[in-house]
Amino acid sequence: MDEKQLGPQTLALHAGHTPDATGSRAVPVHLTTAYLFKDAAHAANLFSLKEPGYIYTRLNNPTTEVMEKRLAALHHGAGAVATASGMAAIFYAVTTIVSAGQNLVTGSNLYGGTQTLFEHTLKRFGIEARFVDSSDPANFEAAIDENTRLVYSEAIGNPRCNVDDLPGIAEVAHRHGLPFILDATVAPPPVFDPFAVGCDIAVHSLTKIIGGHGTAMGGGIVEKGDFDWAAGNRYPELTAPDPTYHGINLWETLGGGSGPCPIFTTKVRIGMLRDTGATISPMNSFLILQGMETLPMRARLHCENARKVAEFLAKHPDVAWVNYAGLPSHPDHDRAARTFPLGPGAVFGFGIRGGVEAGRKFIESVKLCSHLANILDAKTLVIHPATTTHGQSTPEEQLAAGVPPDLIRISVGLEDAADIIADLDQALAHSR
Ligand SMILES: *Cc1c(COP(=O)(O)O)cnc(C)c1O
Repeated sequence: MDEKQLGPQTLALHAGHTPDATGSRAVPVHLTTAYLFKDAAHAANLFSLKEPGYIYTRLNNPTTEVMEKRLAALHHGAGAVATASGMAAIFYAVTTIVSAGQNLVTGSNLYGGTQTLFEHTLKRFGIEARFVDSSDPANFEAAIDENTRLVYSEAIGNPRCNVDDLPGIAEVAHRHGLPFILDATVAPPPVFDPFAVGCDIAVHSLTKIIGGHGTAMGGGIVEKGDFDWAAGNRYPELTAPDPTYHGINLWETLGGGSGPCPIFTTKVRIGMLRDTGATISPMNSFLILQGMETLPMRARLHCENARKVAEFLAKHPDVAWVNYAGLPSHPDHDRAARTFPLGPGAVFGFGIRGGVEAGRKFIESVKLCSHLANILDAKTLVIHPATTTHGQSTPEEQLAAGVPPDLIRISVGLEDAADIIADLDQALAHSR
């Protein structure tokens, strides 16, 4: 069957898997570190990339491979590679093509882990991250110079729920011959197609809505496959002979420039994953595959519940403001409606009247909602950033980081919307 013709629900259940000789209908968990070679020639061919196959689970694994193929199919992408976590995926996506002395240009309203990685850790390796206000593509353009290697942003900001002009940012990147990498964790297919807005490489924390049940860590990099890496000889990591593989030219070997080419994800696997080893466990790949099977249905329900909860909060007298791009009051509402027809995800912030003290009381009063630091579990999650994630910062630093004292972040789950709303209502009453 031609996967291009199949809908997301079908792909989520079938893509990438053909039952083996045992007839096992579920994807088997291959808990093995290594694989038998058929003979000496087979082994030599595998090592020199002349033949595809399995050598060692740090590089690939049959269970993980099904998950990677399914992830690629859901995006209609040319390839995907899985990693141990979302942070590993982001680190690999960036460092595969950015070296010491070079820079990347990124939106400044990032996931906290990414912010720290870019601002502090990459700096120690000589890579500069240039942070710009992502609300205007011109800001990205102004920061690009001859040492820029990629443009980076996120599909929907968390917890501001901002939706930027993603096609505009992609256009700027492409005009300068740069790939646009987008963290699409909060908006997976079918909520959002990153490649339709001009993104070249999508990164995901599979830990969140794709796994979907708060049980396994994982990350993924998916590539569209039509970026011209050879133009301007800017990416020798991908297009010049590879000294770590006896001078093989990966770009030519994979047919780069003549049709969809998974060179980026291949290079992540045989480069960064081989050399630094943040490999996903096959068991986690299995758990994430279980989640993926129902991703399209769950994602729709997450969005539907989020809209109901946001509408409830917006009318509540104890709520000062709601930052959900599905509400007409949000500055990015119109763009969000065009970009995310099913709804702009299920993670957003709201302000509770009464500041820090009210926030603390609210959090201590929820019963159904879970108070923890995660997003997009099947269960509804809440957190009060001023007393937790940003509790070590001064009130001034918190404000600079976009964390006002009254902010509550919610990740709306799959419970009955009426039950989530009733729990929030009673907790708001206790916050007074
Ligand atoms: C959680 C998250 C990450 C990091 O993923 P981990 O799997 O926790 O390493 C990156 N980006 C976004 C938007 C996230 O929500």
